[in-house]
Amino acid sequence: MGQYGTLKTGQNFNSPFADQRQKGFRWLIFSEFVEEEFLQYYAQSNEQRARLLPVLAIITILVSMVVMLVEGRMNLPVIGFNGVVLLPTLAVTLWASAQPRRHRLYQLLLAFSALLIGMWVTSIVTRASMIGMSYYFAAVIAWVFIVWELLGLPFRYAAFTALIVSGTYIFGSFAWNFQGNETIFSTTLLVLVNGIGAYCCYQLEYTVRRSFLESKVLGQLAERDGLTGLYNRRSYDEYIARIWRQSRREQAQLTFMLIDIDHFKTFNDQYGHQAGDDALKAVAEVISLSAQRPLDFAARFGGEEFALILYGPAHEYGRELPGQIREAVRNLKIVHKQSPTDQYLTVSIGVAMVMPDAKRSMAGAIQMADEALYQAKEEGRNRVVVNAPDAHIQTGRFRAARQASG
Ligand code: GH3
Ligand code: MG
Ligand code: MG
Repeated sequence: MGQYGTLKTGQNFNSPFADQRQKGFRWLIFSEFVEEEFLQYYAQSNEQRARLLPVLAIITILVSMVVMLVEGRMNLPVIGFNGVVLLPTLAVTLWASAQPRRHRLYQLLLAFSALLIGMWVTSIVTRASMIGMSYYFAAVIAWVFIVWELLGLPFRYAAFTALIVSGTYIFGSFAWNFQGNETIFSTTLLVLVNGIGAYCCYQLEYTVRRSFLESKVLGQLAERDGLTGLYNRRSYDEYIARIWRQSRREQAQLTFMLIDIDHFKTFNDQYGHQAGDDALKAVAEVISLSAQRPLDFAARFGGEEFALILYGPAHEYGRELPGQIREAVRNLKIVHKQSPTDQYLTVSIGVAMVMPDAKRSMAGAIQMADEALYQAKEEGRNRVVVNAPDAHIQTGRFRAARQASG
């Protein structure tokens, strides 16, 4: 589940993923935060495949160095390049592939390794063609194909790598070692392989990006209530279990608020279901605007009942807020003629402030908020009742700080 944070109510709650899907991504890049998540996802989904490159390359290089040693053809520049540049780069790439938080570094290193190997292949091919073995250019073509198709690099990294390797080879074969038809043939092939590779890589990444956004948006929809855009009951259950553990660990106070619309059945009966829905949305908006800090959480608890949970000490903010919500809802001035309580639609709010500890259960804390809500209804509705057993907050604007009477 994603972050619990601030949100806008209504059908279209604030979703950067939905926004991105709307905006499109022809250039295969998302906006800042979405791109960051995508790259991580993309690196993870290609990890196994892409890791083959450093592993195979390390083995190949080690074997070739042993063969050189055994045959007594020690070539200092080659050994130097392998030992100082290629092997360490590959080793670091392999290490980075196992670090989930360093996906960006990993992809850059992978592209860099691919570039190094590509240049290495190109130099071998160029030397081979100088002694008359020009058919070796197939190695460059195969390598460019691997970069586009198999490594799972993001398009822009693959493009950079494949184009530099191809460009160097084409430039080299024209400038230093032109072989007539042979060179034209290999150049044509390279251009073709790059064209097809780029097309396939683009299409593949486009599809992966689209389904990434789709699944993110669906995931968010699954945790929201369709009418109000607030979190739904399922998210609420997950959230309270998590926040309860966290507040026990951190010894932080929790404030549970249950908010229930007064005489809503009569409202529906008189003004119709559609007007009822609109009123629910308006009340939800007020509540969601009150959940503005990172760990605050607002949910539609079911029907015309909402939950708002505040994390952290019940300083002024936590104490003033229920009263402000009650007032803000009344100030919506949604006319409710049949209500025995008021001429406008109102809410009753039950609050429980608890310090989670081993002696207290989460269900018990919610029960306390529920009892406070019940009492607010009993006492005439359109009011706030606070149930705070640890409390030092008997005074103030609240009607009562009820002791649990069982
Ligand atoms: P109280 O002041 O005691 O809370 O009375 P109440 O009428 O608000 O409470 P009750 O639980 O009897 O009725 C809740 C009503 O809320 C019943 C139903 O018509 C209405 N309701 C629940 N969910 C929705 C919804 O999604 N849309 C609409 N329009 N109405 C809903
Ligand atoms: Mg009600
Ligand atoms: Mg109710």
